[in-house]
Amino acid sequence: MAKNILVTGGAGFLGSHLCDRLINEGHNVICLDSLQTGYKQNIAHLLQHPRFEFIRHDICDSIRLEVEEIYNLACPASPPHYQKNPVGTTKTCVLGSINMLGLAKRNNAKILQASTSEVYGDPKVHPQVEEYRGDVNPIGIRACYDEGKRCAETLFFDYFRQHQTRIKVMRIFNTYGPKMDPNDGRVVSNFIVQALQGKDITIYGDGSQTRSFCFKDDLLDGMQALMNSDDSITGPINIGNPDEFTIKELAEAVIAQIDTKSQIVFEPLPSDDPTRRKPDISKAKAMLGWEPTIKLEQGLKPTIEYFAKLLAGEIQL
Ligand code: NAD
Ligand code: UDP
Repeated sequence: MAKNILVTGGAGFLGSHLCDRLINEGHNVICLDSLQTGYKQNIAHLLQHPRFEFIRHDICDSIRLEVEEIYNLACPASPPHYQKNPVGTTKTCVLGSINMLGLAKRNNAKILQASTSEVYGDPKVHPQVEEYRGDVNPIGIRACYDEGKRCAETLFFDYFRQHQTRIKVMRIFNTYGPKMDPNDGRVVSNFIVQALQGKDITIYGDGSQTRSFCFKDDLLDGMQALMNSDDSITGPINIGNPDEFTIKELAEAVIAQIDTKSQIVFEPLPSDDPTRRKPDISKAKAMLGWEPTIKLEQGLKPTIEYFAKLLAGEIQL
């Protein structure tokens, strides 16, 4: 049955793909975005759709809407972006969550929070299980995001306990794919754009730090499985691809798919950069019947094609 669904951050990388899916499934979608890091171009094809509505709005300000489900994705996601206005990032996580939880409470709507593997900080437990409470530097340059998202989780669980709000907390691990922002400094987009332009590929540190990369289709399958699960499943639940790569291996995987003259160069590692990251997805498998199926080399293909079109001017942001 068609539902009224709000997607905050709906003009961003993950949000815009989610809007596509929800429209294709026949729902009425309200996409709310401040366009701080997202692009109207990501949703341009939906703007005339009768079941789609775009509202330019900052979730730090309250809003009244009638909705049955809320996907709360609004938040800058890449370190350079969330560090540009760190106070704004914490406000988005905290005030934004309060506003969206208030909206969910008034509507008795289900609300899903796009939390993050960053709540584990520089993890001492590997792979990361949901029970691990993390190791975050509360005064470091990543804290506005890490602690902001941790506080958002606190708010979600307090609304659940205090107001019986129907919550879903999803801890997303590094995700990539078409429509990532080419300028937001994340590693997959940086390496692909650098390789396509024949520029140096910038590895920060010695490249031995690891990440586990999930293709956006797998991630969104997990996100929707969580939203559509029984109300008793609140999370937090890890959604990500457990295939772990060093950043050097990622650079090599990108170079293997692009005919490029680019050389790898090593630059200083930013402070508090986590050394290892890999999700334990046993809970997602058992509770949602979900696991990713797309290997890195498969997912890189359409991602590279997207950035190639962007650089050729076939897509304009
Ligand atoms: P993105 O930057 O592409 O999208 C975020 C969107 O939120 C943008 O369109 C931006 O304009 C909007 N936004 C930011 N602050 C806002 C505010 N105050 N009010 C309204 N809109 C605002 O990032 P993404 O990769 O699509 O990430 C989506 C969500 O998933 C974020 O909450 C992010 O923290 C979370 N997440 C993403 C990843 C990943 O690897 N992509 C990993 C962990 C968590
Ligand atoms: N990174 C890198 N070169 C880049 C961009 C990032 O080596 O051009 C590294 C970064 O230091 C980190 C990893 O890649 O160790 C992932 O960075 P990203 O910003 O994509 O995500 P996050 O650190 O939030 O997982």
